[in-house]
Amino acid sequence: MPLSIKTLQLPRSVLLGIAILLVGCASVNPYYDATKKHHRPDGFNNNYIDNWRADQPSFFAWQRERWTKTLPPQDPARVRVLAPDLAYLNANRSDVSVTWVGHSTALWQLGGLNILTDPHFTERSSPVSFAGPKREVPLPMQLSALPRIDVVLISHNHYDHLDARTVRMLNEQPGGPPLFIVPLGLDLWMKAESITNVHRMDWWETFRVKVATGEVTIHFVPVQHWSSRTPWDRNATLWGGFVAQAEVNKQPYSMFFSGDTGYSKDFADIGARFGGFDFSQIAVGCYLPRWFMQEQHVNEEDAVRIHLDVKSKLSMGVHWGTFRLCDDAIDAPIDELPKARRKLGVADDAFLLFALGETRVLARGLKTQE
Ligand code: ZN
Ligand code: ZN
Repeated sequence: MPLSIKTLQLPRSVLLGIAILLVGCASVNPYYDATKKHHRPDGFNNNYIDNWRADQPSFFAWQRERWTKTLPPQDPARVRVLAPDLAYLNANRSDVSVTWVGHSTALWQLGGLNILTDPHFTERSSPVSFAGPKREVPLPMQLSALPRIDVVLISHNHYDHLDARTVRMLNEQPGGPPLFIVPLGLDLWMKAESITNVHRMDWWETFRVKVATGEVTIHFVPVQHWSSRTPWDRNATLWGGFVAQAEVNKQPYSMFFSGDTGYSKDFADIGARFGGFDFSQIAVGCYLPRWFMQEQHVNEEDAVRIHLDVKSKLSMGVHWGTFRLCDDAIDAPIDELPKARRKLGVADDAFLLFALGETRVLARGLKTQE
């Protein structure tokens, strides 16, 4: 989700200005391809719901409701934080590992590469540093403590997934910028930031990344969401999920990241196309109120359905425990995910919630001579 208006405390005149801009501006899609159903001349659409229809749930009605009601209480102290094993992370080039940094940010070590998903290492999910949803649980490490990042996967442009200051920090990391892999249209945002090491992707496209220490194959896949960073760019850039594949000990290993998404048939499609994943990173938080969030964010039960649909052997829930962007408590998945697993017959150790800073080694690789 983008920024909530309540947390910004904007005056009503500014809100009115935003509303006028929302109605008055339209964008042009420079990548429009009439043969693709999810393309439009002015942006992009979902496969199974129409993001452009007139009768969508109203953001302003949600904000009005939020103003008048008390949100469920939350307890950030219940979100566990572990001291990260930085020595391991900095030395590892052979094992497959996953480390949760917070929200949708995770370090994947796969195929000899260090990959960051939706990197966010600042204090607020916001266009400005002085206002907007604040980090409720501290970062388990600073970006500079991690090994040099080879690839950054950005699922879409909402402020909790595309943090401009973090992207700039990454672009200036010692050893040279990472490769930023972004949805169609987000390459233009990168260009405006003078970031040149960028590869844009459309749904179902594949891209092979080879570096000195190894290689991975990245696929960009459809999920059900939307995009916007300003009042005039709604759905102007694409959104999606990622698949990363590599060889570990001559065996294929595959990882999936859902990005932000509502529950849709896209996941059965992804499961059918790839035949399952060794590991999945699935959003489980920011889903209340359901009348507004249902089409764009899953609750724990739908997250477990995604785990089943994509045929994931092991999943990690993300998009919780960090920023309060919706009405649900940031610690809600601690209580609700076990219930969802039980209801859908998924084993307790098949869909996990990590501690912030926690690393799990998913597959041991044979050390290569260097
Ligand atoms: Zn989000
Ligand atoms: Zn989002």
